[in-house]
Amino acid sequence: MKIAIVGTGYVGLVSGACFAEMGVNVTCVDIDTKKIENLKKGIIPIYEPGLEDIVFRNFKAERLHFTTQLADVLNDTEVIFSAVGTPPNQDGSADLQYVLDVAREIGSKMINYKLLVTKSTVPVGTAKLVRQTIQQELDKRGISIPFDVASNPEFLKEGDAVNDFMSPDRVVVGTESEKAKELLTKLYRPFLLNNFRVIFMDIPSAEMTKYAANSMLATRISFMNDIANLCEIVGADVNMVRKGIGTDARIGGKFLYAGSGYGGSCFPKDVKALIHTAQENGYALRLLQAVEEVNHSQKEVLFRKLVKRWGEDMSGKTVAIWGLAFKPNTDDIREAPALEVMEKLLKAGAEIRAFDPIAIPASKARLEFLAQQKNNGTDYSKVYFANDIYDAADEADALLLFTEWKEFRMPSWNVIKKSMKNPLVLDGRNIYDKADMKEQGFDYEGIG
Ligand code: NAD
Repeated sequence: MKIAIVGTGYVGLVSGACFAEMGVNVTCVDIDTKKIENLKKGIIPIYEPGLEDIVFRNFKAERLHFTTQLADVLNDTEVIFSAVGTPPNQDGSADLQYVLDVAREIGSKMINYKLLVTKSTVPVGTAKLVRQTIQQELDKRGISIPFDVASNPEFLKEGDAVNDFMSPDRVVVGTESEKAKELLTKLYRPFLLNNFRVIFMDIPSAEMTKYAANSMLATRISFMNDIANLCEIVGADVNMVRKGIGTDARIGGKFLYAGSGYGGSCFPKDVKALIHTAQENGYALRLLQAVEEVNHSQKEVLFRKLVKRWGEDMSGKTVAIWGLAFKPNTDDIREAPALEVMEKLLKAGAEIRAFDPIAIPASKARLEFLAQQKNNGTDYSKVYFANDIYDAADEADALLLFTEWKEFRMPSWNVIKKSMKNPLVLDGRNIYDKADMKEQGFDYEGIG
């Protein structure tokens, strides 16, 4: 079977590589010429455990191909997945321009039956727009060719994306066509051989399921952060509370960790987009508005802890930052709390020594981009990207941990204590033991 995947980002590349691994002949398409050229040379644009190997192997076996021209493969393939970005507009709604560009291109060039499957996260009603867009192009050409659309939201998580795609908890498919159902059943069966868990539903429900899933997870995070902040005030320990409630089977232990807020490319934009969809439909999603508000404030929690100790003016202070990626095992820094706190520290006059095992190149590029923005008064030359955690902590007045990379879990605290100017550790992911850190002579504070 031959398929095309349009948009070769986190979702498109992982999906393409995994389908190829199952024996499907896949062409990944992207308008980013550099990305495609690099992929053909074996250079992977993102860090994702296991991905490089699977891409390389399937490219060599000629099951995985890369092109910038959808037209080259369009009429050789029946099924086309669209995994282009849906970034937020100014008002929080999802920007559908890339999704509709793909539909337009398909409608203008198809000569035989197509099933267009939207994998991107899109608001309810998008499949209808996609269908209309294809139809308009066919009408312009004065021809009639059968086609179907389907919604197949993707639930993979960055950092474990290959495993998630290869063994999904479930696959959600929204479609109104028997033929689409058959084609997608055929494509997903190899992933779910022993326990077929493709949930077929109507298209609006499939589109909504993705937003509801991300919003639920974001809600758990903000809920725990809110409880953590209250724990600090009243003298309770949120780690104990988490254990206490997580053992209740109705609640479950996952996604109950307090920290410095959620970031990444999905939760922030998807929560905003769902709030916007509700507003457009005359409904206020008050719970999600609060989830967003709590998260916005939580991202600054470590900065506020420093202000409490040092005041607003941090000139002459050096802050070590451990972890820049929004979570471990990815180089994704979109909406990462570390980057947002970094900005605040620089504005307050502090110097920064930052380390991340993978996300330094992405962070450097981000700071270079910000430095070129007009009216940006921040002095990014005060950020030093360190060689390792020890280099970052050297002569620092405080150490802030943002990402729970495994290699941060058991540092040699005696070495760090000697090299820091002031042994203050603020743990934004609660990975260290409070009593142990105190015993080692650190002024230590976690979240909650
Ligand atoms: P991304 O930004 O990494 O990749 C999108 C790619 O689409 C880019 O490479 C871009 O050049 C390409 N593109 C844009 N217009 C194109 C066109 N007309 N033709 C060909 N290529 C085009 O995005 P991503 O993180 O992979 O996310 C894609 C979608 O999947 C989004 O809707 C996102 O919300 C959703 N999603 C993302 C994740 C995740 O963990 N990143 C998980 C689940 C769902």
